[in-house]
Amino acid sequence: MIVFKYIHDISHYLHSLQQQGKKTGFVPTMGALHQGHISLIESAHTKCDIVISSIFVNPTQFNDPGDFDKYPITIEKDIDMLEKAGCDVLFLPSVKEMYPEGLTDGKQYELGYLELVLDGAYRPGHFQGVCRVVEKLLRIVHPDKMLLGQKDYQQCMVLAKMVETERLKTIIIICPTKREADGLAMSSRNVRLTNAFRAKAPLIYQCLQSIKKEIKPGDISHVKQQAIEKLVAAGFKPDYIEVANAQTLELLHTWDGKTALVALAAVFAGEVRLIDNLVF
Ligand code: AMP
Repeated sequence: MIVFKYIHDISHYLHSLQQQGKKTGFVPTMGALHQGHISLIESAHTKCDIVISSIFVNPTQFNDPGDFDKYPITIEKDIDMLEKAGCDVLFLPSVKEMYPEGLTDGKQYELGYLELVLDGAYRPGHFQGVCRVVEKLLRIVHPDKMLLGQKDYQQCMVLAKMVETERLKTIIIICPTKREADGLAMSSRNVRLTNAFRAKAPLIYQCLQSIKKEIKPGDISHVKQQAIEKLVAAGFKPDYIEVANAQTLELLHTWDGKTALVALAAVFAGEVRLIDNLVF
């Protein structure tokens, strides 16, 4: 695996590969890698000639500075995991390399409704920061495909919109959420859970599964409310438990029995905010 720190160098290298007709797959990450990230690398391998990943803890997407300061950094282990997974190229830029213009005064993306609901509402500015860094990365790497995890469901929709409005040529591929054996969605933030919250954390996915099992056409507020009550009783602090149209993310209060749905959760387990979702 070749590691690049500078835009000039990686651009030059990838350009020559792309000139040779090699198809490239890109997996952007913030590091502290786990099997969820590695599954994206493996999927990229089956679809592309060259697999590129990036590790960059993007300061502009953290609405909570404490969360940014405590974001886990395990770079040596990450490099080892990427190498073992057969990643060909790693981009490891500094903040200065990515934001020579400074962190404030970035361009504004028109995200419409997607920025007003769920994590858009609970994490002001978060998706603007995500779009800003991913647009920059895509304009450096020019991948044929970018692989994203369904774990960040709303982020996938936001980035699809950004790619479309910025007229980028990259095709987005969404890969399934990897889970621990007890059902907890893998996340870099899981290492920050206390032992007590780690033991209880599978309840989040169990609540999403209960929503899927119990939902019936008509009013659906009670299934959401039951999930919130279970989580609160176990000591979690939910930001939201919602059911939405899986295509548009429109939040639903009633269900027609036909529309494809996604149940989404954002829950504080102590100081750690976890998200998960289930499509059905
Ligand atoms: P992050 O490092 O958290 O920014 O995530 C980088 C990429 O990995 C994003 O596309 C995430 O959606 C994806 N990802 C994170 N956790 C998982 C998981 N448990 N399963 C599959 N993909 C994941």
